[in-house]
Amino acid sequence: MKDRFSREITYLRISVTDLCNLRCVYCMPEEEVPKLRNSDLLSFEDIVEIVQMAAELGIQKVRITGGEPLTKPGIVNLCREIADVSGINEVSMTTNGILLPTMAMDLKKAGISRVNISLDTLNPQKYRNITRKGHFEEVINGIRAAEDAGMYPIKLNTVLIGGYNDDEIEDFVEITKTKDIEIRFIELMPIGEGANFHSEAFITAETILQRVPELEPMSHREGVVRLYRLPNGKGRVGLISPISQHFCSSCNRVRLTADGRLKPCLHSSQEIPLKGLRGKELRQAICQAILEKPLKHELLSPAFPSQAGRCMNEIGG
Ligand code: SAM
Ligand code: SF4
Repeated sequence: MKDRFSREITYLRISVTDLCNLRCVYCMPEEEVPKLRNSDLLSFEDIVEIVQMAAELGIQKVRITGGEPLTKPGIVNLCREIADVSGINEVSMTTNGILLPTMAMDLKKAGISRVNISLDTLNPQKYRNITRKGHFEEVINGIRAAEDAGMYPIKLNTVLIGGYNDDEIEDFVEITKTKDIEIRFIELMPIGEGANFHSEAFITAETILQRVPELEPMSHREGVVRLYRLPNGKGRVGLISPISQHFCSSCNRVRLTADGRLKPCLHSSQEIPLKGLRGKELRQAICQAILEKPLKHELLSPAFPSQAGRCMNEIGG
């Protein structure tokens, strides 16, 4: 279905839980994490029904995210049910990778074709500092498990944070020389805990092109990502720049929060409640969200943070 600005909305991101086994400094507070009430969460039945209706309205791709989706009991079954919905031709997942070693194979069999794994540093101590709880070797084992399960292409999400990991840009890019992996550098957004960072932490994706000038642009763009590669490199480097160059004109997505609200735009507080709706009412509410998708969001900066009104773990990043 097209929105008012003729954008075809084909992509639904679903946060299946607001809970997480890590506490990344830019995403969640270390303690006193606000939790959604169990009774407010969508059931798996609700989620599948929403996906069925969304597919009737033109959604073709679904991404499962969170919070940490792999901490949600029964997630493999949910993925299978979503992958079986008629009209859905791709189901992927964004995960921190910690639980992939025991789950990757089952997820692949259930229809998760590929995963994006978040990894902001190649240094074990820094990994601990950024995630507050994670062990570096766990995520490395998770990446291996995804490779072994054939979840190609593997994409690593790396949020660039000035003063934390910007000294590792070249090391991340170097990985793509020999490995068929996509490193996706994402600009830090002033949303959730990210809004508490100093302006020096917000560095633009262009910094990568300045630091690694041999990166060559690839002819095609993938949704919100600008793709580059090293000369003769096996992998790719993706730049996602929600701050310095927003991509609203080509935005094709809506997001479902863990408590059943459909967000037409990540950075707007507007949410259309879907929980409890069935049949015609559900259809109308999804259409309303698509039709009310704004042309663009305001420019974001540390002084003008996101108006999302929630942290990324509730919305689904
Ligand atoms: N737990 C999973 C993970 O970390 O991959 C999925 C959910 S997480 C909210 C999804 C993505 O959002 C991650 O790649 C994370 O780095 C990104 N993210 C969270 N907060 C962010 C922020 N303030 N700015 C930019 N990206 C952010
Ligand atoms: Fe958890 Fe992902 Fe947020 Fe990190 S970015 S705290 S792994 S939801």
